[in-house]
Amino acid sequence: MRVVEEAAGSYDVVFIGSGFGSTFFLHRYLDHAAPNARFLVLERGKLHTHADQVEMGRTSEIHPNDAWIDKGREKNKTWNFTIGFGGGSNCWWGNSVRQHPSDFKLKSTYGVGTDWPIDYDDIESYYGIAEEVMQVSGPREPMLWHRSTPFPLPPHTLPLPDRLLKEAYPDHHFAATTARPSRDTTTRPKCCANGVCHLCPIDSKFTILNSFMAPYEDPRVEVLLTAEARAIDVEAGTATGVAYRRGGKDLSVSADLVVLGANAIFNPTILQRSGLDHPMLGRNLYDNFAVFGEAYLDGVDHFQGSTIVCGMNYSKYDGAFRSEFPSVLFETWNAGPLRKEFGKWRQVLPFLMKIEDLPQEQNRVVLANLDDDLPEIRYNAYSSYALKGVQQAEQLIAEILAPLPVESITRFPQGSAGSHIHGTTLMGKDPDTSILDPDQIHHQVRNLVVVGSGGFPSGCQSNPTLTICAVAMKAADKLGASV
Ligand SMILES: Cc1cc2nc3c(=O)[nH]c(=O)nc-3n(C[C@H](O)[C@H](O)[C@H](O)COP(=O)(O)OP(=O)(O)OC[C@H]3O[C@@H](n4cnc5c(N)ncnc54)[C@H](O)[C@@H]3O)c2cc1C
Ligand code: SF4
Repeated sequence: MRVVEEAAGSYDVVFIGSGFGSTFFLHRYLDHAAPNARFLVLERGKLHTHADQVEMGRTSEIHPNDAWIDKGREKNKTWNFTIGFGGGSNCWWGNSVRQHPSDFKLKSTYGVGTDWPIDYDDIESYYGIAEEVMQVSGPREPMLWHRSTPFPLPPHTLPLPDRLLKEAYPDHHFAATTARPSRDTTTRPKCCANGVCHLCPIDSKFTILNSFMAPYEDPRVEVLLTAEARAIDVEAGTATGVAYRRGGKDLSVSADLVVLGANAIFNPTILQRSGLDHPMLGRNLYDNFAVFGEAYLDGVDHFQGSTIVCGMNYSKYDGAFRSEFPSVLFETWNAGPLRKEFGKWRQVLPFLMKIEDLPQEQNRVVLANLDDDLPEIRYNAYSSYALKGVQQAEQLIAEILAPLPVESITRFPQGSAGSHIHGTTLMGKDPDTSILDPDQIHHQVRNLVVVGSGGFPSGCQSNPTLTICAVAMKAADKLGASV
């Protein structure tokens, strides 16, 4: 990788950030670009190797809480990410989930939320490419909806409770789809199910650093680390470059195309500082509501699985109920505290239930003053739609786990989640109500692409990253076709 100390001259494309959105866009766009094209990646953080991260005990020197100011009324909520080369690929847990086709058509199917301006089939093939790059493990049997390619790796071993759930829900319970490999890949060892995936000690989960450096090793690509993009330079509706700060100096670089991939907290901030304000910019910040807990089982031992999240249950995911009640993705976990009763140590099933929230304009990211360094996050409340699911969480869990010999269910105190950040730069067909077009190109500045889950209008109960990658590659093909 060509790490440079300064930007030199002008570039065909300048990227802001080196996380999933930027990297998958870059990967795809390189195929379209001329042999002498020039690419620059501005990355705010440092490059910490896996060994450095293990040594530090964290994925970045910058703590996420030091990068934003909490001004919301919902105090039990935080927001997590990694600032550094590779972005969230360093800290993510590797759950690689396709959105359900209904997630793209929530409004037209169930009369709530907002439809995406694209549908599942528009990105189905890109999901397959992302799964191949990440070497995703998943079930061999058909899942609920169409896919044109098999999972690259076989499924993980299901523990006994999951095998019983699979028998009870043959069409709605599956081995988790995950970038934690079920066998050794050419770059990573098999996942060994110890469950501290935010910093995998054996470097098993997919990260950009361990398995996807090829785009950065292309000789056309330069990387400038510790360069914080501040604003896009825009003249007469065209992006001309990026203003950034490095080593205490304010600098700028010119570009023909800008790809903004700083994540759904910082993308709207950078757009606001660029004078690209819009009534919807930074609004509709949303994330799933996470309910963690455990079920004590009578006579069924657990923990024979081969990864941390072993099962995904879709029995409460989609149906007519979504016109008034949220969708739920239920995960079974293969790690957690044992029971304390003699002979029953392993008769416990930890779980995570992710409840769909709907975007609300009151929840937002904003710069109080354009010169401010840190964005304010004003997250005030979950939607009443999500809260219906939260209020009935115990009943939902009991219904999903009914096929098991459940002795008791404990719901842990509310978790803050905040790892799946959606909605602040919405995609849509109408420039009055959305920031980006269906290809994530800015409605007004047509040589500016904004990648990441800020564009997502719905679907937060499913983990977003595979979709971030798929949509970014689609955008790269769209723009690359005209190069
Ligand atoms: C603990 C945790 C677990 C997760 N687990 C999962 C999971 O299992 N499955 C899943 O689908 N998702 C998971 N996620 C979410 C996933 O990490 C994000 O969806 C994903 O990283 C978003 O990709 P992105 O490219 O939009 O942004 P990021 O990956 O956040 O990348 C943004 C990049 O921009 C850089 N940057 C930021 N500001 C600037 C600036 N001003 N100038 C230059 N560079 C900048 C950052 O350093 C970073 O490199 C998890 C997240 C966390 C925190
Ligand atoms: S379960 Fe363990 S081995 Fe697998 S990805 Fe997580 S930390 Fe790594």
